[in-house]
Amino acid sequence: MSVYLDANATEILRDEARRAMLDALDPKGNPSSVHGPGRQARRILEEARDRLAGYWKAGPEQIVFTSGGTEANMLAVHAFGQGDAGPDKARRLLIGATEHDAIRMASPQAVTLPVHEDGRLCLEALEQALRQNGPALVCVMAANNETGILHPIDAIVSVCARYDARLHVDAVQIAGRLPFSLAGLTSLAISGHKAGGIMGAGALVLGAEGHIPPMIRGGGQERGRRGGTQPLPAIASMVAAYEAARQQDWSVIARLRDRIDEAALASGARIAGDRIAPRLPNTTSLILWGVPAQTQLMMLDLAGFAVSTGSACSSGKVSASHVLQAMGLGQGAASAIRVSLPWNTTEAQIEAFIAAYQSMAARLGSKAA
Ligand code: PLP
Repeated sequence: MSVYLDANATEILRDEARRAMLDALDPKGNPSSVHGPGRQARRILEEARDRLAGYWKAGPEQIVFTSGGTEANMLAVHAFGQGDAGPDKARRLLIGATEHDAIRMASPQAVTLPVHEDGRLCLEALEQALRQNGPALVCVMAANNETGILHPIDAIVSVCARYDARLHVDAVQIAGRLPFSLAGLTSLAISGHKAGGIMGAGALVLGAEGHIPPMIRGGGQERGRRGGTQPLPAIASMVAAYEAARQQDWSVIARLRDRIDEAALASGARIAGDRIAPRLPNTTSLILWGVPAQTQLMMLDLAGFAVSTGSACSSGKVSASHVLQAMGLGQGAASAIRVSLPWNTTEAQIEAFIAAYQSMAARLGSKAA
């Protein structure tokens, strides 16, 4: 039996998303072509745009389709990092210490804002940085991909508003899993494969209609805001995935996650953010102090369980988690595995995982801190 517990790397494809993808494979046309097949493709594209806009209580012109979450984040930094007076007067980029590399790598000049021990952004540091740095673009994720910890976005919106700062939110992990609103944001980024769609589509959702300078120039697609032919099947499956994800009762998944937490604590593990910060329903970061994360990952893999160390987008690299380091977890940052439950996880799978985890912990032991 192989059990996949790495949904934050990529969600399991949802049936609704598979069907939508198949339906969108047939039109032969390019959505930018004016002939009949092109118009048919265009209809699918615009219907997907309308539905995604409806999901965010936005207008269709506020949706810019991209290739995924990384591109949507990069586009936000590119577009909103520019000053009102043009690219020469760049805004200062302020980013949370626990951001995904999709934001961390966007600009070497970014100011990094600390998080508290609970993993949540330090609002006092944000306020001070806004006072010191003048016009700014703040980039914060709504939910952390490694720990599931939720940042206080409502409070961050209020602080940014007081300093007239722009605020871009990486909503890649929260979207579909918890209610989340576009209100007060300059933009937010989403990614279809994190919600149960196929890979290859994401979107930058703009807080207000308007032109943004493209990062990818080309044929003027997406109202001149992102060049390149839109991947219809991926876009259609992304929209269907978000709609299905929103219908799901995530408390069922949260209960399974809580079962893992209980068992892990009983085995001597620590859990990042446990009981001190709100978290996504499907995510937990288990720290078995002193036991290299890679060793845990390999043992669990041999036992038939797919989990990850830190951010799975970088799971080729074996380095301590910058997220846990920022939370002051020191050595623990090299001993954490992320378990992220897909939408269709079953109780039997979790009971089997718990047995494997407990037997691993008993063998490797926790050199508890
Ligand atoms: N932002 C967060 C929080 C993520 O977890 C990820 C992927 O893990 C991304 C952005 C990048 O998304 P994509 O894989 O669609 O480029």
